[in-house]
Amino acid sequence: MTLVAVRTEGDSLVDGYRAVVGDGPIRILESLARQLRGHRIAMVNSTATGGGVAEILHRLVRLLNELGVPTTWEVMTGDTRFYGITKTIHNTLHGWPGALSEEDHAYYLAMNRRAAESLALDADLVLIHDPQPAGLAELRRQAAQRWVWRCHIDLSSANSAVWDFLAPRIAHYDAAVFSHVTFVPPMPVPAYLAPPSIDPLSDKNRELDESEVEELLAPFGLPTRRPLVTQVSRFDRIKDPIGVIDAFRLARRREEAHLVLAGGSADDDPEGAEVLAEVRAKVGKASDVTVLLLPPDAHLVINALQRRSTVVLQKSLREGFALTVSEALWKRRAVVASAVGGIPLQVIHERTGLLARSIEGCASQIIRLLRSPELRRRLGGEGREHVRDNFLHPREARDYLALFARLIDIAHGS
Ligand code: UDP
Repeated sequence: MTLVAVRTEGDSLVDGYRAVVGDGPIRILESLARQLRGHRIAMVNSTATGGGVAEILHRLVRLLNELGVPTTWEVMTGDTRFYGITKTIHNTLHGWPGALSEEDHAYYLAMNRRAAESLALDADLVLIHDPQPAGLAELRRQAAQRWVWRCHIDLSSANSAVWDFLAPRIAHYDAAVFSHVTFVPPMPVPAYLAPPSIDPLSDKNRELDESEVEELLAPFGLPTRRPLVTQVSRFDRIKDPIGVIDAFRLARRREEAHLVLAGGSADDDPEGAEVLAEVRAKVGKASDVTVLLLPPDAHLVINALQRRSTVVLQKSLREGFALTVSEALWKRRAVVASAVGGIPLQVIHERTGLLARSIEGCASQIIRLLRSPELRRRLGGEGREHVRDNFLHPREARDYLALFARLIDIAHGS
């Protein structure tokens, strides 16, 4: 169980964001931060690297500190058994098959009890991310504190037995936050909405010139003459890498292209190696597909890969939000993505990208984009503006600070 040290040196994030989103949104953020002066925030999740939540926390924690709201980040680590159980919780809450036994319940609670004894959770506001550490509120909460559960999962088709186990834990929070209104089931506490966001200044998303892109991708020997069709995702069945290969093979009957499946693993995801082996077996000796297993800090490589791609895919079968979609749209890429979870918030069909509901549909949208530079330019341009307006970190920070300010007001009876 660890406290993540967030790098604070370097240029001011606040100044950098001001240059991207303008003065107005930053002034609102600064004013909310002034209301929260003197209050400390603790963020808790279950991995320091890999996956969207860790990606967000690295920068959001730094931003909140820069704004003068002292914020720490605690990681609740587990063992293989715990991560197996929490992966089942994650998948079944997304409506995927699976079940928990009584022993699983007991083990989940025992691990939360262990974390409750060791994590530093004395802040005034505690923001718990996702189901893994959700049991902490009932174990550690003190009367003067405010606790918020931040759920990144689409609970609209959640397995009811698993939700029945989790909901009594959530009843100990003051509020829950979801990415999209359709994700929210009947809740024991008030629910608020705040979609996730990306950082336009991070290595993952900052501008790169063409020579930097070439240099970063040189070690991978990707073809330079054929257009790249790319999906960046953890090797997880929910991201449907096998379906991506099937869709690409259909598209390849009509158009020249090269598929890149790039991904790494997350500390709290035990299935990655198995899925990667399935993907490699499916690709076989095909020369028009590259599978890249990337280390957790390959942010610049992913940035370059997204920029170099003619089409970016996100063919998930279930999805919380898919930061990878915002990342691609921010880079003005043409995106084909499944109409699941939070993706339709980002991909407005025919305006900021193209939605697909099947392997055949995905293939035909890939073909359309490969054939039309004009369509790619139009969707990519609108996509960037849509992300600037809705899915950059200052907006997410504002949503959290506004909620915290409200919870503190309620506590003080105003
Ligand atoms: N990512 C990464 N390396 C990888 C795969 C993904 O850095 O090998 C990043 C990706 O760029 C994005 C985040 O991890 O920022 C994944 O977030 P998303 O919401 O797309 O999916 P999640 O993994 O949380 O389900």
